[in-house]
Amino acid sequence: MTAIPARPALFEYAPAAESRSIVALRPRYGLFVDGEFTEGTGTPLKTLNPATEEVLAEVSTGSDADVDRAVRAARRAFTRVWGPMRPADRGKYLFRIARLLQERAREFAVLETLDNGKPIRESRDVDVPLAAAHFFYHAGWADKLVHAGLGPAPRPLGVAGQVIPWNFPLLMLAWKIAPALATGNTVVLKPAETTPLTALLFAEVCQQADLPPGVVNIVTGAGDTGRAVVAHPDVDKVAFTGSTEVGQSIARAVAGTHKRLTLELGGKAANIVFDDAPIDQAVEGIVRGIFFNQGHVCCAGSRLLVQESVHDEVVASLQRRIGTLRVGDPLDKNTDLGAVNSHSQLARIRELVAVGEAEGATCWQPEGELPGRGYWFKPTVFTDVSPAHRIARDEVFGPVLSVLTFRTPDEAVAKANNTTYGLSAGVWSEKGSRILSITSKLRAGVVWANTFNELDPTSPFGGYKQSGYGREGGRQGLAAYLQGDNQ
Ligand code: NAD
Ligand code: MN
Repeated sequence: MTAIPARPALFEYAPAAESRSIVALRPRYGLFVDGEFTEGTGTPLKTLNPATEEVLAEVSTGSDADVDRAVRAARRAFTRVWGPMRPADRGKYLFRIARLLQERAREFAVLETLDNGKPIRESRDVDVPLAAAHFFYHAGWADKLVHAGLGPAPRPLGVAGQVIPWNFPLLMLAWKIAPALATGNTVVLKPAETTPLTALLFAEVCQQADLPPGVVNIVTGAGDTGRAVVAHPDVDKVAFTGSTEVGQSIARAVAGTHKRLTLELGGKAANIVFDDAPIDQAVEGIVRGIFFNQGHVCCAGSRLLVQESVHDEVVASLQRRIGTLRVGDPLDKNTDLGAVNSHSQLARIRELVAVGEAEGATCWQPEGELPGRGYWFKPTVFTDVSPAHRIARDEVFGPVLSVLTFRTPDEAVAKANNTTYGLSAGVWSEKGSRILSITSKLRAGVVWANTFNELDPTSPFGGYKQSGYGREGGRQGLAAYLQGDNQ
């Protein structure tokens, strides 16, 4: 059967593929330990391009012994070089790294899109510039830590063990490494198993910046390697971003040790639209809230709470707008939604969507065909969702929106807070007083007003409840890597 779009697109775009020739993929990648690339002794893994299922490269994995080597290198670098270094000099290294990220921005963007599946428009305009911004921001803090509000002489903790997810590989690396280095710590970082390549390119940037060996170590691998980083007795601080389940197991693993811990886990954010909101703007914000990065976003606006009187109007314009989204080749500059990151994530999305249908919610998807190879899921909207449905409670981590309604501001707040998570939320209204009153009642770490998914290095990010604890970014984020007077 030929698929005939319900409404022909206003105008068709010619393909506008970004060239991948700027990226020189190597067939094999090693670990980055003590300033050098070395083979890991674990079983190597393959990383794929999720848009094509093509194997991009084979990547070493770190065994317990490799992790131990990396932690020892980080300890030596901390004791001998990085810890004693003048803070202003540490800042210079961070500025240098930030500038190199900018100089090599296109290479990072293309590699990120190949390994992760996200649209080049996002890796180019969001991930890479924000990663550089994190290094610039923290470079500025390096020699000003006495003004961070943590007492007159805050001290670094030592070696940080950091484990990150696959949804923003380079950006999460920057969120972890920039504050750790600015505060005088050294790091052992484990990237996610499906997206290790930009972290290894970052290791090259560390070499290019002449960063002293051992200050940054990258140990690739899967959960076992992450577990070894977290469990290593000579790690002083653990920072994790990922699923709530793994976060809980990490909290148990470090309980009763000297290690400090920050956790950035999942979310199920409410995006609240009041009847006085500018509907067209709100629809743009809803789309950005749930379809940015295929919905693989911990702070995604996955629960739309819309005032009953404007429900039909909002849903109709939302569906119209979703009909114009372009799903497909992530390297095409016109693409809005790329590939789902992995086969297992696609399976999880399909499973939760099937549960949503079985529980009685109404599922809507736009017309059109998905590419034949690779991992894809259409932008999806569920209406008639009740707060008890699993699609209203569980994090889908995919392009799936659940729409619920409310009648009064109090009901909106009660429903928004009725979740085990508390990472982010959004409010759409033209009344400033209403925005102030609602935002102050929402139990979420970040609340956006008349916008969504806006990230900035100066602004602390983190959760309430099962979304985790500790803050990343801003002055508050520095505290996670420093010992002050009262700690
Ligand atoms: P995950 O938590 O399993 O993986 C995140 C990172 O932790 C990866 O680097 C992984 O190798 C590592 N890891 C796994 N087990 C570990 C362990 N026992 N000790 C130390 N490190 C370990 O996440 P996932 O399986 O990739 O995704 C599952 C679900 O998690 C998603 O569907 C989504 O709901 C959620 N998730 C949330 C975020 C976020 O940013 N908050 C990111 C990714 C996934
Ligand atoms: Mn990959």
